[in-house]
Order: sequence, then C-alpha cells, then structure tokens
Amino acid sequence: MKRILVIAAVVVLLPIVALGVLMAVTFSGARPAQDGQVLVSGAVLVKDGYVNAFILPLGGNDLALIDCGNDVEAGPLKAALAKMGLDASAVKAIFLTHGHADHTGGCHNFPKAAVYALTADQPLAEGTGKSRGPLTQLLSTPKEKLTKVGHPLSDGESVAVGLSTVRAFAVPGHTAGSAAYLANGVLYLGDSAGIATDGALAGAPWAFSDDVAQNHASLAQLAKRLAAEKLEVKQLASGHTGVGEGLGPLERFVP
Ligand SMILES: [Zn+2]
Ligand SMILES: [Zn+2]
Repeated sequence: MKRILVIAAVVVLLPIVALGVLMAVTFSGARPAQDGQVLVSGAVLVKDGYVNAFILPLGGNDLALIDCGNDVEAGPLKAALAKMGLDASAVKAIFLTHGHADHTGGCHNFPKAAVYALTADQPLAEGTGKSRGPLTQLLSTPKEKLTKVGHPLSDGESVAVGLSTVRAFAVPGHTAGSAAYLANGVLYLGDSAGIATDGALAGAPWAFSDDVAQNHASLAQLAKRLAAEKLEVKQLASGHTGVGEGLGPLERFVP
C-alpha cells in the first residue's frame, strides 16, 4: 500500500517538478518584470504571477489591455485598475498576443471589452484548436480560461481604440497566430521574445513554442518591417520578462 502511494506521488509530482525545472530554465537570465512599471506610452505593466499584462490608457477613462493574465479572477489587473480609481468596465478592448491560457485566463472578467487576436490563434483562444509546442501540445486550456475572439485580426491591421491606434503584426512561431502590437511607441511581443538581463532580445522558448525557427525568422522580418516603415519603437514589452529599450535589441537579435 505504502509503495503504491509512493509510486502515485511520483507519477503526480514528476510532471509538476519537470514543468518547474523547464520554467526555471526558460526564465533564467531574463530581465525581471517590475509590477506597476509605467512605460513611455503611459501603459502600466501588471505582473500576474509569472505573466505580464499591460493596461493601456486610451484617453478619458477608457482603457485597453494587452493580454488579460493567467488569474481566472483577473485579481492583479482588477487591483491595478482600482488603484487608478477604475473598474473592469473601463476596459474597452483586449489585444491578445496569442491564445495560450496564461494570457487569456482573465478575459471574461472584462465584459465591456472587444477581444482582438490574429485569426490564426482564434481556435487556440476559443478551445477548438491546440498549439504544437513540445510541452504545450500536452496541455489543454481549462474551460474557464478560454475566451471568445469577437474581432479576428489580419497581419498589418490597425485598430483605432479611443484616441489611440493599435497596429497588429503577425509573428508566427511561438504559436501560429502570435501577434506583436505597436501602440504609442511600445511594441508588445507577447511570448515571441523576451528581454535578457543584459538588455538583449531572446527568442521564444523552445519547450513552449510551435516552431522556434519560424519564430526567429518572424522576429528578423518584423525588425526589417518596422525599420522600413520608419515606425518609432521606444520600448519592447514582453509577456514574461522586463521591458527592453528601443528597437535596437530586436534589430540586433541573433538566434
Ligand atoms: Zn505562450
Ligand atoms: Zn506565456
């Protein structure tokens, strides 16, 4: 009996420990995210455990979010809104960088928000499709973290929200429909890239990504595109790490 219990404990604990080790390896050397950091655009970084979401002021009392966190109750986002004297009803739009559960978990707490994502990640966000990463293909999103994408986006599309414009760029690789968003000089990269302690850019983590070679090609393509269009990028925001400065880290990115 005791032996069965030990075996059962190992079977249950092993994947959890393995996941913990993978997470530790993935985020080692990453610049730590600072909860409450105000970006050059006035957007606020909200740390939801190991995931970042961002609150974007749109003018007046209207806000948008980049991703909606991992917490099903959206506790950290609601607390950050309360600090601004606002509540969930102020959020008019949510832009999903991709459909992984740790970025969609809190969306249903913002019923007034139009939810945007690239078309290719709509099935992932809504639970009708799966991602293909070595680890992510083994996980399915819990029902309560799924979200309906009311506004599927295509590559290059601009969305006017309040007094701001959010531009979407397709950067497939981490997931098929991974997006980068440019809003008021900040480029939001989701899990397509992170910032290392030395300020350099790191590509998407292998274990959690569909296709890292495609991710690297997408990042190189994005850097060229932003430079060619002379779009100003003052800061780089990532889904799990701290913030990077300027377009330089993306332009200098070497896989
Ligand atoms: Zn992800
Ligand atoms: Zn993530």
